[in-house]
Amino acid sequence: ERQATLKKYLSHPKNITKTVSPKIQLLEMNLQQVVQKQKFQEFEVYYQPIVDIASGQIIAAESLLRWQSPELGLVTPTEFIPIAESTGLIVPIDQWVLQNVCKQIKVWHDVGIAYLKISVNLSVMEFNHPDLLKKITDFLQINHLEPQYLEIELTESMIMQDINSAIATMNKLQTLGLKIAIDDFGTGYSSLIYLKNLPINTLKIDRYFIHNVAVDRQKSAITKALIEMAHNLNMQVVAEGVETEEELQFLRDAHCDYMQGFLFSRPLPAPEFENFLWSNRHLYI
Ligand code: C2E
Ligand code: MG
Ligand code: MG
Ligand code: MG
Repeated sequence: ERQATLKKYLSHPKNITKTVSPKIQLLEMNLQQVVQKQKFQEFEVYYQPIVDIASGQIIAAESLLRWQSPELGLVTPTEFIPIAESTGLIVPIDQWVLQNVCKQIKVWHDVGIAYLKISVNLSVMEFNHPDLLKKITDFLQINHLEPQYLEIELTESMIMQDINSAIATMNKLQTLGLKIAIDDFGTGYSSLIYLKNLPINTLKIDRYFIHNVAVDRQKSAITKALIEMAHNLNMQVVAEGVETEEELQFLRDAHCDYMQGFLFSRPLPAPEFENFLWSNRHLYI
């Protein structure tokens, strides 16, 4: 049956010239269906806690999209986000995530969880979309939310594509009251000098540097320098991908502000995240 649908899809004139693999074409076809037929119930937003290293408290969470396809099973973002980006489907998807996250923040506020900052990953297409500010304003307004609970995660490469227009959008987002994080820091090619001129609240050190940071002398040196530099620029620092006690201890000694990683928790569906919050209220790590 899957073969038949695939054949039909491939025979469509619009798709004939594509030279990508059948697996990717199948993913693309299914993703197209989700968006066109508004089958967004196949998507679920997971939340991964971000922890204040000094106090052990969960102070924030990153929203991470999951796609449970009836046809294909669980598809990871590293598989479907690039396809969504190359097809433009990422725009409605990112907007759905933004809307969903705003609703969830409101639900949490109503049950007394009113302190968390939730971050949302945006793709470059959504970041540059003319409707972005309007959409965000609407989602906040509909849910009676103050903007400081929302943080937008951008990557270096997104910003460097067109630095002037990126700075303009970042300024608008900050003026609106949102926070801005630079994600996967260290993996791009941006000069550190640029950072100084960018309106960034949070710097997230890529998990490449955190993996084995306590024993790898180069990674230790780079991570320490990044933390110090970020602090000098009045940014707060999140270490991504913290998996071991040794890595956490290193980060604590290096005065890193926050940590995120499997050591503390994997990304969780909203109800599980909420349970996790209640059971870890006074947890000290
Ligand atoms: P990211 O924004 O850098 O998200 C962090 C990724 O690291 C997540 O992968 C998370 O599950 C993973 N991670 C967290 N802690 C650990 C750890 O201790 N060890 C290891 N090995 N991994 C850890 P995930 O959820 O598979 O997402 C992958 C990427 O997909 C994200 O990277 C982000 O770039 C993108 N993405 C996810 N959700 C969205 C979305 O709603 N919109 C857009 N545009 N992109 C998204
Ligand atoms: Mg991220
Ligand atoms: Mg990241
Ligand atoms: Mg990443």
